[in-house]
Amino acid sequence: RLQLRVHGTTLEINLNALTHNFNFYKRLVKPETKMMVMVKAFAYGGGAAEIANHLQTIGADYLAVAFSDEGISLRKQGIKLPIMVLNPVEESFDLLREYQLEPVVFSPEFFRKLGKYAQNHAVKLAIHLDLDTGMHRLGFEKQQLSELKDLICAFPELRIASLYTHLVGADEEMHEEFSRLQLQEFTEMKTEIEAVLAYQPLIHALNSAGIVHFPEFQMDMVRLGIGLYGVEVTGKHDSALKAVSILKTSVSQIKTLAPGATVGYSRKGLLPEGGKIATLAIGYADGYDRRFSQGKGYVLIHGKKAPVIGNVCMDMVMVDVGAIEVKEGDEAIIYGEQISLKELADRIGTIPYELLTNISTRVKRVYY
Ligand code: PLP
Repeated sequence: RLQLRVHGTTLEINLNALTHNFNFYKRLVKPETKMMVMVKAFAYGGGAAEIANHLQTIGADYLAVAFSDEGISLRKQGIKLPIMVLNPVEESFDLLREYQLEPVVFSPEFFRKLGKYAQNHAVKLAIHLDLDTGMHRLGFEKQQLSELKDLICAFPELRIASLYTHLVGADEEMHEEFSRLQLQEFTEMKTEIEAVLAYQPLIHALNSAGIVHFPEFQMDMVRLGIGLYGVEVTGKHDSALKAVSILKTSVSQIKTLAPGATVGYSRKGLLPEGGKIATLAIGYADGYDRRFSQGKGYVLIHGKKAPVIGNVCMDMVMVDVGAIEVKEGDEAIIYGEQISLKELADRIGTIPYELLTNISTRVKRVYY
């Protein structure tokens, strides 16, 4: 394992584990089902270019990012796979074209603007259509279908590379019925659109949890996100995935405090009996959530739990090391194989996605 101590904190990315997880989902779908992988938000915090580059070598078919600049950055770093852009803006039309990025079109207005742009520049552009079946975020709704079909016919310059929808709660059993209604509506909507097309676009609906729960709706492609990064959100295959992200920091200083001493800002860390604390080189500016303050979070030092004491600072956090044998420079594990992201996220009322994507860019990513 690589140890890099330029900044006390490193995010290790285990690319073999990523391959393992990719293959796990690949085996859940038919051999011909394409794998689109979400590398938005810096590949869920792992580092978009490195992960996209690795995905190119292990057989991913498509990538997706949220914003145009994420796609541009991938192209500049040599990524050749097709890239779908979920939420493009009008101002980026030239760049989308220049960097061969494929925008999602989600409204009649946007369709018209992009269609006119393509006509004015005499170019054909590949686009993806987001069909809103209940997420109510972006996308064409059922009552807009006839307008959409007219637009498709009016602007043949826009080639529909795919039609997709997104499930609102594929990971939650309580929403299974709603998911099925979404998939049903999606099937009806896509069939109507297909009827006005002389070619066949790719059809897709499933995210990581959807692949597990609704394999019969895998269609032409699935959109793998969180599962690739080692979090199995359905809880059905918990031990099948490997941890990809391992966040580690180091002990900057140890202090032995007298009874009644307090630790950190606002004197929130109380030590009525006194005790030993360690100051770690990670804070909320690195993405160590401030909600881990006052015992909500803990780290592992030499395999033992050390709870957070006091408030998390910008660049540091103090932990109660009690009887743990620890010295300056020792390693503290924030999460990884032994501490799951799900457990940590639960502790502060969030989701693993937020923990992963919040690791700031100043934290060095190390790949192995
Ligand atoms: N598809 C779309 C449209 C998304 O926005 C996302 C992620 O938010 C995904 C797929 C991947 O979801 P997950 O990370 O749960 O697999």
